[in-house]
Amino acid sequence: MRVPRGTQYLCAHMQVIEIIKDALTAGKTRFTFELLPPLKGDGVAGVFEAIDPLMEFGPAYINVTYHREDVKYVERPGGLLEKRVVRRRPGTVGISAAIMKRYGVEVVPHLICGGLSRYDIEDALIDMDFLGISNVLALRGDNRRGERTFTPQPDGHTYAEELVRQIVDMNNGVFVDGEVEECHHSQFCIGVAGYPEKHAESPNPDADIRALKAKVDAGASYISTQMSFDNRRIFDFIDRCRAAGIDVPIIPGIKPFSTKSQLSLLPQTFHVDLPQDLVAEVEKCRDNRAVRQVGVEWAIQQARELRAAGVPVIHFYTMGKTDNVYNIAKEIF
Ligand code: FAD
Repeated sequence: MRVPRGTQYLCAHMQVIEIIKDALTAGKTRFTFELLPPLKGDGVAGVFEAIDPLMEFGPAYINVTYHREDVKYVERPGGLLEKRVVRRRPGTVGISAAIMKRYGVEVVPHLICGGLSRYDIEDALIDMDFLGISNVLALRGDNRRGERTFTPQPDGHTYAEELVRQIVDMNNGVFVDGEVEECHHSQFCIGVAGYPEKHAESPNPDADIRALKAKVDAGASYISTQMSFDNRRIFDFIDRCRAAGIDVPIIPGIKPFSTKSQLSLLPQTFHVDLPQDLVAEVEKCRDNRAVRQVGVEWAIQQARELRAAGVPVIHFYTMGKTDNVYNIAKEIF
């Protein structure tokens, strides 16, 4: 769906599940992409620059990632190392509201369990609700850097399923402190993460699907998947979800491959396999410009096939850079 550049793409606060259902009814595949909040100290300009060109293609909604605190070691006089907790990318809720206000497009801020107590989570949800945001992607979040296992915050959640329950409770007027009888009810539409190639910590694919079903049974309306470079893995995942009784929409995630170093970084970080044909094409490239082109062509093929299969929305992982998503959107949407 092409919208003239500069035109606001209007939508009056829709839940993502309604957007997905509309896409299914219309038989038209749409797309979403995710952005990172700016690094602390940066303004919003870079984020808007990344979004501006893509508005021409009418994204279904825009995801904004959530980043937990990090640990930094600073050398003190005498050589001692001081451990400091730093938050490099705060502002997920604020930047989501700024995007919604500027473009009139729905936003999906991510919300994680890591580093947040149930009270912190409730505060973030209340802010979102005040700002007119009615969508959220509920995640556990990654382990803190340097930690091998996930440590929940005191009075926080261990699994995303518990976060989903907290959001559903709040929609029903049940807050962390208890029920508020006469209250405004938030109406968050909740998405959760799914893993076509299995979550790294899961003992096996069936256990992972059972954990996913628990999140859907707890109240999630749709699933957004981890990136996969192999549509067969995505289709197989959808089949396994359906066989397990998961009947909510599944939004496949694809990432345009962009640098040679990703040959090892992506499997290491996201625990996904890279198909041999893709690896061979990337290895032939003389520089990262050529790799970016291979990544765009690969993603176009994936997107064409997903569209032919009737997928309602495709989620693009951008890592903050959208020129390659622009080149894909130009061909597909
Ligand atoms: P969970 O669903 O809680 O699952 C975590 C692990 O525990 C899995 O192995 C699961 O099988 C298992 N499990 C779940 N429930 C149970 C249970 N009851 N008993 C035993 N085992 C269980 N991370 C960020 O920090 N910020 C982001 O913005 C962000 N965005 C993301 C967007 C998408 C679309 C995806 C796919 C991932 C994103 N992530 C993000 C990464 C995500 O936080 C990590 O993959 C994290 O390790 C798991 O999150 P989850 O919500 O899938 O966790």
